[in-house]
Amino acid sequence: MTTLSNLYGWPNSVSTHCPQCKSKASLTKPQQVIEMIGPSTRPLTKVHTDFVEGGLSCLKCGLVKKVRIQWPVDAFYQGDVKGNLIWAWDKYHAIALRDYVFSTERDIQSHRYSRALFHLPEFFKRSKNRTACVKTLEKMISKF
Ligand SMILES: [Zn+2]
Repeated sequence: MTTLSNLYGWPNSVSTHCPQCKSKASLTKPQQVIEMIGPSTRPLTKVHTDFVEGGLSCLKCGLVKKVRIQWPVDAFYQGDVKGNLIWAWDKYHAIALRDYVFSTERDIQSHRYSRALFHLPEFFKRSKNRTACVKTLEKMISKF
């Protein structure tokens, strides 16, 4: 499955939920889990999974451990826009998405997350979805 994340690699850290206290935690050096599948009689096929491993650290409860999360299911910054999931790597990415969607300027070169914005599904860019999308992103950003 081609996901937004494996089209262009991962950032150095992403925001997720702490498995211990459920607060916002950072997952640093996220690495997408790759599995080799197929029958034993043939060369195996490399499959990019939706799972990511990295070092989790939580500022609230102090938990530090290596974890495996599912992306974007475990993204801290995520929301629903008319039945479509929108997510962000972290708060700065969520702010960049909001500014991009809110603006009618579609020149992504001027944006910090230009590659991520380039891959944003068309649904979120449509003018009829703009208000709902910005509202959802504002709610995500206000989470802290
Ligand atoms: Zn915690």
